[in-house]
Amino acid sequence: MTTANTTGTALLTDGVRAEATIDLAALRGNLDALRARTNGPELMAVVKADAYGHGAVHCAREAVAAGTRWLGTATPEEALALRAAGISAAEARILCWLWIPGGPWAEALRADIDISVSGQWALDELLAAVRETGVQARVHLKADTGLGRNGCQPHDWPDLVAAARRAEAEGMLNVVGIWSHFAAADEPGHPSIRLQQDAFALALAHAERAGLRPEVRHLANSPATLLLPASHYDLVRPGLAMYGLSPVPEVGAPADFGLRPVMALTARLALVKDVPGGHGVSYGHHYTTPGPSTLGLVPVGYADGIPRHASGTGPVQVGGKWYTVAGRVAMDQFVIDLGGDHARVGDEVLLFGNGEHGEPTAEDWGRACGTLSYEIITRIGARVPRRYLGASE
Ligand SMILES: *Cc1c(COP(=O)(O)O)cnc(C)c1O
Repeated sequence: MTTANTTGTALLTDGVRAEATIDLAALRGNLDALRARTNGPELMAVVKADAYGHGAVHCAREAVAAGTRWLGTATPEEALALRAAGISAAEARILCWLWIPGGPWAEALRADIDISVSGQWALDELLAAVRETGVQARVHLKADTGLGRNGCQPHDWPDLVAAARRAEAEGMLNVVGIWSHFAAADEPGHPSIRLQQDAFALALAHAERAGLRPEVRHLANSPATLLLPASHYDLVRPGLAMYGLSPVPEVGAPADFGLRPVMALTARLALVKDVPGGHGVSYGHHYTTPGPSTLGLVPVGYADGIPRHASGTGPVQVGGKWYTVAGRVAMDQFVIDLGGDHARVGDEVLLFGNGEHGEPTAEDWGRACGTLSYEIITRIGARVPRRYLGASE
C-alpha cells in the first residue's frame, strides 16, 4: 500500500519516513531526447557522484540497457564500483578522470577502465602500473582549453603528447581519446566558449600532427550537448540533462528540451499540531507564527541533503498546496506552517518532483537556496532510500 497524492499517483511507500523516487523510464526517455538532439556522436552517460544522487549502478545499468556504450565517472573508485557491480567491458567503456598520486592505476587497468591523463606525473604512474600488470592502457589525454581546473596547459601539451606517443609506440598504451571540458557552456554567448573551442581544435591538431589517432574526441557536457552542435565531435558527455534537469534554466525548462526530471523527493509528516500565535519555530526562532496556526513536522534535514540555506525559503507541496520551510532546517527535520489548512500526521509532503502536477522542482529548490539544481539532487543523502520505478528489465 502506498499513499496517493492529490493526482492519484502512488509516491511514498507506507511506513517510510522519506524516499527519493527514481523514474528510470524518464531516464531512458532523456537519453533518447539527447540522442535526438545530436547527429551521430556516441553518448557517455555521466554517472559520477552516485549518478548525481540517483544511484550509479541502477542508472548505469539502465543507460547500458538503453544502448549507451560509454559511462563516465570522476574517480577511479566510482568506475571500479561499476565493474564490481557486474557492468562488463563488453557492455560499456568506463572513463574516469579524477586521479591523485598513488591512485588505483593497476586495479583500473585490470578492470578494463579508460583512464584520463592530465599531466606527466599521471602518465608516469600509469606507465609503472602498465609494467606491473602487463595490461596496455587506454588513455584519454585531457587538455585545459581554458577552464583552469583539471587538464594539461597548452605550454605543457606538446611534451605530454610526445611522451604519450612514445609510450604508444612501445605498446604500453593507446591514446584513444583527446578531450576537454567547458567553463561556461551554460551561459550562451559567453566569450570563453568560442575560445575553448578554438583551443581544443589546436590541441587536437597538435596531437594528430604528433601521430596520435584518437578514437573519440570529446568536449560537450549537458549544456553544450543541448546548445552547441559544433562541440559534439565523436562523443558527448551529458550528466544533468540525463537526469532530466535543464542545465540552462534561463534558456529552457526541461520540457523544452524533451527532458523529464528523474528524481522526486517525498517525506511523510511526522507531527501536525496546533500552536498559539507568536510561537517560535525551530532553532534560533527565525520564524514566529503570525497567529494561531498549525505546524507540520517534515522529518528530513541537512543530514539528508536538505540545504540549511533552504531555511525560510524551501518550497514543499502538501495536499496540492505549496508551503515554505518555516524557520531553520535542522539536521533531521524542518517545520512548515500549514496556516489554517488541514493536514494529518502521515500525510505526504512532496519536496520536489518533475513539476508536471504543479509541485516544486529541484530547480525551484536550487533557486530558493541560491544554488543549482545539480547540487540539490546530488546532495540527497544516503539516509534517504531510493525507490526505482520503470526499470527496463
Ligand atoms: C560532470 C562532468 C560532465 C557532465 O556535466 P553536466 O553539466 O552535468 O552535463 C561532463 N564532463 C566532465 C569532465 C564532468 O566533470
